[in-house]
Amino acid sequence: MVVFGGRSGEHEVSLASARAITAALRKGGRHEVVPVGITRSGRWVHSGDPMRELESNHELLPDGSTLEISGPPAKAGEKLPANLGSVDVVFPVLHGPYGEDGTIQGMLELAGVPYVGSGVLGSAVGMDKITMKKVFAHHGLPQVDWVGLTRREWKNEPEAQVRKIEAALGYPCFVKPANLGSSVGIGKAEDAEELRTALEAAAGFDRRIIVEKGVDAREIEVSVLGNEAPDVSVPGEIFLQADGFYDYEAKYVEGGMELGVPAKIPAETADEVRRVARTAFEAVDAAGMARVDFFLERGTDRLLLNEINTIPGFTPTSVYAELWAASGLPYEDLLERLIALALERHG
Ligand code: ATP
Ligand code: MG
Ligand code: MG
Ligand code: MG
Repeated sequence: MVVFGGRSGEHEVSLASARAITAALRKGGRHEVVPVGITRSGRWVHSGDPMRELESNHELLPDGSTLEISGPPAKAGEKLPANLGSVDVVFPVLHGPYGEDGTIQGMLELAGVPYVGSGVLGSAVGMDKITMKKVFAHHGLPQVDWVGLTRREWKNEPEAQVRKIEAALGYPCFVKPANLGSSVGIGKAEDAEELRTALEAAAGFDRRIIVEKGVDAREIEVSVLGNEAPDVSVPGEIFLQADGFYDYEAKYVEGGMELGVPAKIPAETADEVRRVARTAFEAVDAAGMARVDFFLERGTDRLLLNEINTIPGFTPTSVYAELWAASGLPYEDLLERLIALALERHG
């Protein structure tokens, strides 16, 4: 069962990942795939053509504005696919909240159905950037300085929050919803006015907000695959085609970014990237797969861990799969490995 869509700012990205995964699994009749879509309002679509139904409701560009709700709002009891008990393994292809965060993983644990990727703990810790950073810090992993706050703190005392952030981090800084991905809701601030705007935008996506010190850095990413003692791919480097940071547009508009594989970094740095990625994976208790993102600071060459993504973008041209292809593992074989890892973990 491939589950896609979801109540997330990354809904669209999930559809692209799920289309590619479904086609590859079906190729040569290798697997029978049961598609299940979840609309933006949380309604489960498990009859007819769920992909088409979700696509026909498509809306794009999570630019901070409210996302349109597709179809009628979900009623209790419309949330579970009736055919869940009849499948061998579930692949939750859901990015962001209500999918990458441990919620569907918890449901699948209760239902006793094997599923691809991290369990409840790894998903939840990997999704919340504030908790993730605390866990990484406990393991001594190098990161940028950051400040966490809640929506309520921002609404109740905005100027006190601005002063606190300025004192702790200065400018530029990056403001992010703590629980999201694909750069949705992220803003870069160079002054107090931009900081207020970015905090307001992030507060529209999440109760929890993180602000990080901005670094001028090369961006290095690596793919992890396995359960215990996981494998790590060759590192890749993100090259942007336009000014600015690696935002939603750079990620998903054709030609917005180019991946350099393998990243042209010294062998010792590549080894360090792989070591830190494996530690990060184990620190949050991830399983199956994850993409780990790094900053390599210009000038100092300091390697900083940015984040882990437990359900990374998953088309054949997504960074996760490209890095495995460059490491000798083609897309279809990667999917087979993930299914085997899911069964191993639940067996
Ligand atoms: P993903 O799609 O990888 O899940 P995300 O939404 O979780 O993305 P981040 O990876 O934290 O977001 O940040 C997105 C991008 O914003 C980074 O790749 C980088 O270009 C920029 N960025 C984020 N934080 C910083 C920072 N502290 N300093 C400089 N650039 C940053
Ligand atoms: Mg992320
Ligand atoms: Mg992500
Ligand atoms: Mg990232």
